Amino acid sequence: MTVQVNGKLFETFIDSNTVHKRILELGAQINKDYAGLNPLFLGILNGSFIFAADLFRSVTVNAEISFIKLASYKGTTSTGNVITSIGMEESIAGRHVIIVEDIIDTGTTLHAFLPQLQQQNPASLKIASLLSKPEARKYDVHADYLGFEMPDVFVVGYGLDYDGLGRNLPGIYRIVNQ
Ligand code: 5GP
Ligand code: MG
Repeated sequence: MTVQVNGKLFETFIDSNTVHKRILELGAQINKDYAGLNPLFLGILNGSFIFAADLFRSVTVNAEISFIKLASYKGTTSTGNVITSIGMEESIAGRHVIIVEDIIDTGTTLHAFLPQLQQQNPASLKIASLLSKPEARKYDVHADYLGFEMPDVFVVGYGLDYDGLGRNLPGIYRIVNQ
């Protein structure tokens, strides 16, 4: 099936049933790994909000969830991008934290942000990502809980946008003729 998002054509890549089945599997794994640990899910906005909600509902152990937004600033230091988090209210010291991302592409975002979280001494820090594009990776970042590996193509749907649109598509769609 194809859809138009913001004037561009996209075709079905992963249908919503397949997405939901995979998320149940990830939730079952998290239930095993985190029993009694009260993990704190930390969703990275905006892209992860639907994945985070469904993954969180697939988990039956005691767990908490919070969301943050990351903003990057170019050229403010010699090292390039500085990433700051907006809305991080709870202390993660001593907590078992699971970062929830929509997609790991180059890995730049998490490569810059993970050390900031590590500085706050969480008891453990893992990453759950719906999608990963290993071919696009520039930094060694991997998801501990991964929905799907995919080629280096642009996708929308299930929380992911094209210029703000397409997040409400129930499945994941890839661009036609990128
Ligand atoms: P990274 O820092 O790993 O290069 O990029 C991660 C971010 O880039 C994701 O959280 C997402 O916002 C955006 N991104 C990367 N690939 C795609 C894609 O195929 N579709 C959409 N909608 N966003 C993407
Ligand atoms: Mg994102």
